[in-house]
Amino acid sequence: MKIAEIHIYSHNMPVKNGPYTIASSKVYSLDTTLVKLVADNGSFGWGETCPVGPTYQPTHSKGAVAALQEMASGLIGADPLKPVVLRRAMDGLLNGHSYAKAAIDIAAYDLMGKHYNARVADLLGGAVTERVPSYYASGIGEPDDIARIAEERAAEGYPRMQIKIGGRPVEIDIAVVRKVWERVGGRLRLAVDGNRSLTTRDTLRLSRECLDIPFILEQPCNTIEEIKSIRNQLHHGVYLDENGIDLPTVLRAVGEGVCDGFGMKVTRIGGLHAMATFRDICEVRSMPHTCDDAWGGDVIAAACTHIGATVQPRLNEGVWLAQPYVEGHFDPQNGVKIEGGHIKLPSGPGLGVVPDETLFGAPVASFG
Ligand SMILES: [Mg+2]
Repeated sequence: MKIAEIHIYSHNMPVKNGPYTIASSKVYSLDTTLVKLVADNGSFGWGETCPVGPTYQPTHSKGAVAALQEMASGLIGADPLKPVVLRRAMDGLLNGHSYAKAAIDIAAYDLMGKHYNARVADLLGGAVTERVPSYYASGIGEPDDIARIAEERAAEGYPRMQIKIGGRPVEIDIAVVRKVWERVGGRLRLAVDGNRSLTTRDTLRLSRECLDIPFILEQPCNTIEEIKSIRNQLHHGVYLDENGIDLPTVLRAVGEGVCDGFGMKVTRIGGLHAMATFRDICEVRSMPHTCDDAWGGDVIAAACTHIGATVQPRLNEGVWLAQPYVEGHFDPQNGVKIEGGHIKLPSGPGLGVVPDETLFGAPVASFG
């Protein structure tokens, strides 16, 4: 099989009840980038990548489109059924830009699943659940508001919640964590996510003043060096998210004992193939992790759910989807949804979602 055509689309997604607030930014709407690979036999696959604005990571939506345009003509004629060969071909055309390569990798897996009449989860090693756990991420807010959200999510059936903190005096963040714990206690597993914004001083204080509350600290400080410098004084487990930029960094963090787990994004690491490698590294060192994406629609949501379904349950910290914050679906029939805090694994073949491409208008660029 050969890739015969590549089409790149850009689509704006407003944030429902926006903005969504994290330490570094307020998000009102996002541009997602979609890729359609068409094979020489007429079958096709979809991929998607959607950075959460230009400051969350060193990635942005215009960069995704430009990187895809840089690679696309060189990928015409490549075999979409050989993900490792395809990844090497992309690396031969462009250095870095894993988040753009991820969209091609995901589209190739979708195509592969259709070709073999298999679900992507089963191509990635095998689904171990049909009901994949999700988690809810609160934006940054006041103690009573976040505690109310936590109570509602616990009642809905979410197994876990992530509390966003940072960008303000740490006393308020400590009050939020305490209030949430008072209201929901052990009914939700808790992650407290600083999105790189805390000083080591404030991270130590947060951990010390919440000694009695079980949570994990997600990406509290800006760099691995900062986290490493205080790690042995913390009373809570630490996960890397933004700093886990690629597989060499994951190997370093695991090897040096910098963290206890990861928040991981399928597009950051380079797509589903790289994510399966990451999952296996985590499994051999018993490291819990998530399978998320930053934002986007049904295509990336399905990709995250398929890999999330293959994670050993004791290490599965859930699949975060933007779906609760986004109006409507790309696939009106089989759109991916969180219900009762869990996501039903799409039945396939491939990703099991087929976007209505009329929603995206004309392609930004077409090749082949
Ligand atoms: Mg995070």
